[in-house]
Amino acid sequence: MPNNDTKKVVTRFAPSPTGFMHIGSARTALFAYLWARKNKGTFILRIEDTDKEREVAGSIEHIEESLKWFSLDWDYGPKNPGPFGSCIQSERLASYMEYAKKLVESGYAYPDPYTTLQLQEFREKSEKENKPFLFRDYRPETFEVWDGKKPLRFKVPEIKRYSWHDEVRGNLEAGEEALDDFVLIKGDGYPTYNFAHIIDDYFMGVTHIFRADEFISSTPRFLSLYDALGFTPPFFVTLPPILREDRTKKLGKRDGAKDILEYRNEGYLPDALVNFLALIGWNPGTAQEIFSREDLIESFSLDCIQKSGAVFNEEKLKWMNKEYIKRLSAEEQFSCIEKVLPSSVSGLPGYSREVLLRAAPILVEHITHFGEVQELADRGEVGYFFEDPVYLPVGLLWKDDKDLSRTGSHIEKVVELLQNTPADNFTADSVKTALWDYATVSGRGNVLWPMRYALSGRDKSPDPFMLAYILGKETTLRRLEHAQKLLSSS
Ligand code: GLU
Repeated sequence: MPNNDTKKVVTRFAPSPTGFMHIGSARTALFAYLWARKNKGTFILRIEDTDKEREVAGSIEHIEESLKWFSLDWDYGPKNPGPFGSCIQSERLASYMEYAKKLVESGYAYPDPYTTLQLQEFREKSEKENKPFLFRDYRPETFEVWDGKKPLRFKVPEIKRYSWHDEVRGNLEAGEEALDDFVLIKGDGYPTYNFAHIIDDYFMGVTHIFRADEFISSTPRFLSLYDALGFTPPFFVTLPPILREDRTKKLGKRDGAKDILEYRNEGYLPDALVNFLALIGWNPGTAQEIFSREDLIESFSLDCIQKSGAVFNEEKLKWMNKEYIKRLSAEEQFSCIEKVLPSSVSGLPGYSREVLLRAAPILVEHITHFGEVQELADRGEVGYFFEDPVYLPVGLLWKDDKDLSRTGSHIEKVVELLQNTPADNFTADSVKTALWDYATVSGRGNVLWPMRYALSGRDKSPDPFMLAYILGKETTLRRLEHAQKLLSSS
């Protein structure tokens, strides 16, 4: 195990630009970021674009945008190279070539003399014999001179059992079958992941590799290459797989492993998502669930990363997001709602930002993420704040009350009492104070139901005092007077 105690911590997030960023890669990025920040170290965004066939245009920008949305700022990245040069592998080919040549010179690499067809035959033969295919069984006796056109293979120096330490998994080991003469440089001149990441991590001074468990089985190969190169391996930090809720499988696209930016489009708050991601496979050992960024950086530790699979629970994400929504100020809630407000509401002639600002804390009670505002609007739970309701007078009657004129006189009294409440102090409390005694004496339902119905036209809505406050004095009185007219003409 390398001793990095005296070294500055350097971590990297090293995605391949093969598509969008999903929950799993975002979690890897976050953990690598937290560890770097906790140790006042360096966090690098490195683009591993050596598999040109799998590359998807626009992925780099997409990855950068996703990290920016999370405010996972990186110290070096595609647009800000480090003292070690570019953070894009396709721009670092010279360094791979330099080390490939060194390995050739030291006898640890040789050109693969076989055609694709021959390799295929070897594989089929192993399959028939029920043996794992190992290239080293076909290693030629003598090596050709490497012309750079044939794939360059690693000549594994020693076939032995490797044991190593993983910061999360503890001591691991693997037998000789895990070692092979793997490809270092492909026929197209690009290095493989197996080779490139080791060279890059070395040049970039990476002290801790945070990555998924799919790389554990290749670690003996990496270790044999570190040996041949004379490099000290960094610390390995293997993150637990993210499982779908029934724990039977790794989270797949069908179980909600979607593009991180989709959460942005759905109106999730980035800090909530970061908090949620942090708890997938890491826990501080206390009951605390809500962590500010600073808390996360301070509390994050490698020994609290769990070994076993961690479940992705969409309901928990919604709960977490709601907790963050509740902590926003009314102004912040308002601006998040305004961004997603459908034009069926914002285009209403009576639409008012002031009213929306007052309604925001009420509206957010009904959502877990801001995208749900659209559904609220579709259910008619937003528009009535801006548009006088249309209803039948009978709706104004409390329970079994059949007396329209008595209801009308209650509304008349409410109007009178509210006229005396100053417009600049028309709060839920002042409205309540103005009406409470009258409502208590006359029967609260008899007074407050018709008031609430007159203001909303709905069976369910916020309480009448809150409604009056949100609508403001003028609209409140106009709607009440309209109800009064309806009742008197019925
Ligand atoms: N480029 C690799 C991937 O996207 C990263 C593995 C690593 O972090 O070393 O899976």
